[in-house]
Amino acid sequence: MPRQVEIVLEDCIGCQACVDLCPLVFQMDSTGDHALVMRSDLTGQEECVQQAIDDCPVHCMHWLE
Ligand code: SF4
Repeated sequence: MPRQVEIVLEDCIGCQACVDLCPLVFQMDSTGDHALVMRSDLTGQEECVQQAIDDCPVHCMHWLE
């Protein structure tokens, strides 16, 4: 089963780093306060998602196994 990524929204500070790294997966919400996961099929996006997880300054993103 493909892995999914989750953002803990209450911890996200809206820095947009994940959106810059992985725009096909992450987008800012309409308020610009949080990033959202825009797709469930991460095929071909695993590397940039991992990079986004590693670089998130507040560590609010993680894989769901
Ligand atoms: S990198 Fe982390 S804190 Fe920054 S917008 Fe993405 S999920 Fe939020």
